[in-house]
Amino acid sequence: MSLQEKIYKNSPYFIKFLLLNVKGYLNYKQRYNDEYKGFLKEHIDIWDATVEKSIDFQKKKLSSLLIEVFSFSDWYSSKMKAKGITLQSIEENPFDVLKQMPVLSKNERRENVDLIVNKNRKTALVGHTSGTSGTPMIDYIDKESINISFAIWKRFHRVIGINDKIRQVRFSGRLIVETTSKKPPFWVFNYFEKQLLMSTYHLTDDNLPHFIKKLNSFKPVLLDGYPSAIYIISRFINKNNIQLSFIPKAIAVTAETLYDYQRSEIEKAFQCKVFNQYASSEGSPFITECTEGNLHLNIDSGFFEFINVEGKKAQPGEIAKLVVTSFINLKTPLIRYDIGDTVQLAEEGETCSCGCLMPIIKKLTGREDDILWTEEKGYVGRMDTAYKGLKGIIKSQLIQRETDKLTVKIVPDTNFTTAVEKELISNLQNRLGQSITIKIELVDDIPLGANGKFKTVIRSFTIDL
Ligand SMILES: [Zn+2]
Repeated sequence: MSLQEKIYKNSPYFIKFLLLNVKGYLNYKQRYNDEYKGFLKEHIDIWDATVEKSIDFQKKKLSSLLIEVFSFSDWYSSKMKAKGITLQSIEENPFDVLKQMPVLSKNERRENVDLIVNKNRKTALVGHTSGTSGTPMIDYIDKESINISFAIWKRFHRVIGINDKIRQVRFSGRLIVETTSKKPPFWVFNYFEKQLLMSTYHLTDDNLPHFIKKLNSFKPVLLDGYPSAIYIISRFINKNNIQLSFIPKAIAVTAETLYDYQRSEIEKAFQCKVFNQYASSEGSPFITECTEGNLHLNIDSGFFEFINVEGKKAQPGEIAKLVVTSFINLKTPLIRYDIGDTVQLAEEGETCSCGCLMPIIKKLTGREDDILWTEEKGYVGRMDTAYKGLKGIIKSQLIQRETDKLTVKIVPDTNFTTAVEKELISNLQNRLGQSITIKIELVDDIPLGANGKFKTVIRSFTIDL
C-alpha cells in the first residue's frame, strides 16, 4: 500500500470524500484535455471505417510503435537488433517485423520493467497491479496513453448509447470505505465524473437494501464494474420482487468473466442491456461489445494474436490464449505480450451487422487459470453451463489442484438437495470427463480474491504440454 493509500484508508468519511474528489479533479483534467478530444474523434471515425482503412490505421500505429521501441526501449531494441531488424524493415512491413519478435511473458515483464520502458516518454502515472496471482507489478503510464485509452473507452460508451456527463455508478474492487464498516455509506461520490463509487466488499443481504435505496435515489444512467457485484444486487432484486424506480440506459461490465446466468439475472433486474468490455490495467488493447451483442476487437488500440493449446495459431471456434501488442501503453510497451487471458474465436466467416467492420470473437472465456484442464478433454472453459437450471446454489467456486480432482465449493440455500448435487456432478463429468473425482463442499461463504474479484474457477497447477 502506498503512503497516499494509507492516508486515505485511515481518514474519516468526509476526508475520504475530499481526497477522492481532489484526485478525481486531477484525473479529470489529465484525461479529458484537447489531445483527448482529438483522439476521440479519430477513433469514432475508425469505428465506422472500411476494413481497408482500419487495417491501414493499425499498420501506421504498429509501425510508429515499433520504431519508438527500437530507438528508446533497451529491452526491445536489443531483441530487434539480434534478429537483424532495422528501421527500414519496420517501415516496409511492420506486421512482418512483429511476427519475428519473441513473445513477452508476464514474468519477463515484471522483472525487466526498467529495461522495457520507453525512455522517450515521461511518466504521468505509476500504477500498481496486484495481479490475480498475487505478485505485484509496476506500470509506468504516459499522458498520451491515458488520453488515447479514455478516448477509446468513451467511444465504447458512445457505441452503446451513453453520452458524456451522465450519472453513473461504478462497482470496483477499490477500498472506498472500511471493509469492517457495518453502516452506510458504502459509497463515495466523485463529483467530476458524476460517478458514485460503490464498494464491492459490503454486498451482504443485510446491506443490500441500503445499496438499492441509494441506487433508487441516485438514478444512474450507466452502471459499470465487476459483473459478480452487479449480479449479487440483481439476484437480490429479482428474488425479492423489488421494482427499481429507474431504468439505466446500459450496464457495462469488465475485469471479470461475464457468465450467461449473470447477464440474464442483471438484465432482468435492471430492465436494460448488459455490455461486456475487455481491457486491462497493464494497458492492453480493448475488446468491446456492440449493440448487436458481438465482441469486436478494437484493432485501432492494438494487434491481437490467438494461440491454441498446441502453441499454434488458433482456428475458428477454438479457445485460445490472447497475445497482445498495445498502442495504448507507450511508456511500458507491450509487444506480443502473453497477457494470461483466453477467448473463444468466432466461427469461420462470422461478421456483425451493427455497422462496425472490426473483427469479432465469440466469447471472453477468462483468465488462463480460470480454465480447467483434464487429460480426457484438454482445456475446458465456460463452466457456467454446468449449473444451468439447477436450483439452490447461491454461489459456487470450482477448484482444481490436480488434473484428476475437482473440489466444488457451494453456498447453498434451502432448495439445494442431493438430487441437485447429483445432477451438478453429472453435468461436470459430462464436461470434464468421467475419470475426474468431484468433491462437493458446502460452505457459508466464499471469500473474494485479489482486487475484490470473485473467482468462479481456480486452477492451481500449470500445464506442461
Ligand atoms: Zn457489432
